[in-house]
Amino acid sequence: MSDFIPISKPHFSGLEEQYVLDAVRSGWVSSLGKYIEEFEARFAAYCGTKYALTTSNGTTGLHLALATAGIGPGDEVIVPGLTFVATANAVSYTGAKPVMVDVQSDTLCICPDAVQAAITSRTKAIIPVHLYGHPAAMDEINALAAEHSLFIIEDAAEAHGAEYKGRRVGGLGLAGVFSFYGNKIMTTGEGGMITTNDANFHARAVFLRDQAMSKERRYWHEAIGFNYRITNMQAALGVAQMTILDEMVARRAEILEAYRKVIHTSDAMRLNFRAPWAKSANWMICLEVDAFDAQSRGEFMSRLARRGIDTRPYFCPMTSLPMYQGTTPPVAAKKSVTGLNLPTYHSLTDAEIARVGAAVNEELAQLFPQKAALKSRVAV
Ligand SMILES: *Cc1c(COP(=O)(O)O)cnc(C)c1O
Repeated sequence: MSDFIPISKPHFSGLEEQYVLDAVRSGWVSSLGKYIEEFEARFAAYCGTKYALTTSNGTTGLHLALATAGIGPGDEVIVPGLTFVATANAVSYTGAKPVMVDVQSDTLCICPDAVQAAITSRTKAIIPVHLYGHPAAMDEINALAAEHSLFIIEDAAEAHGAEYKGRRVGGLGLAGVFSFYGNKIMTTGEGGMITTNDANFHARAVFLRDQAMSKERRYWHEAIGFNYRITNMQAALGVAQMTILDEMVARRAEILEAYRKVIHTSDAMRLNFRAPWAKSANWMICLEVDAFDAQSRGEFMSRLARRGIDTRPYFCPMTSLPMYQGTTPPVAAKKSVTGLNLPTYHSLTDAEIARVGAAVNEELAQLFPQKAALKSRVAV
């Protein structure tokens, strides 16, 4: 269908081709080269952190951050019960146990009270995820971490440019981890970044990322390291994307406002929440309809698909997945069936947003003809 509106699409400044070509022509196509250094320097400056180091993707970035913090077998790491699976998997790779706790019903991020209740003598770290671009309640989480001597690793894979009380995410704990997958706010194809203000952490992460080779003796490896490096070609894409990152984050806020103008929200049907202290990166437009169950949401998504509009459901609770079977906490359970994402990408036009909004309003009115389910309308 020619007028198909996808859920996501990358956006390029025009410099990407030039920089990637330059990287190829320079012969520095692997994991040394000027674009890697420049990308790391620019990204650290953007996040307001002292250091940034590139990784092959966000998942390896999370694993590397945990390994650098010394997390391993016998340890527990507290993660939100509603997130992309990479958050929990990265913990599993270290041999530690991911402990899933509930999320807040407004921010969709890890709930500090639930974290507190899950802390044991084995807990070593907490990974708050800034889900769909909204920052987690970092002061409360950092206070718990300080009290119990826990590491904080922010999963900022979806939150480039988001701010917590005026501070960019990525520098709010021991380390932050970003993803540059094709559907994220900025992309390098595949790629990731760890940000930190801790010099020792940074040095150890570089060492482990690069096969843990001794600086003094070549091919002498002092630990089981990894090859989690990015390539200079990907970093060239990243440097080009950095030149338009502010613009891309700003456009996402406009997209949310445009959706707010067309979609008839109410107490029982909401678009993205934003806490007063937060600047969200609005990675994805989130639509929650309290009346949805898995079946009616599926029907709604098929109807939009027939109208050429792509959507996707919220993530599945981690405890519903076969390898993490457990009791799903209530908010994660509810949100995972009532929430879905609408098309969100830089080049989406206001006319396309109006088309999506009208389709959402019409299909919901048809699915819930008695209207009570969608009522108690409030001003947006
Ligand atoms: C995308 C994502 C990751 C993983 O990043 P990749 O680059 O795809 O490996 C981790 N956590 C969250 C919350 C994500 O959305």
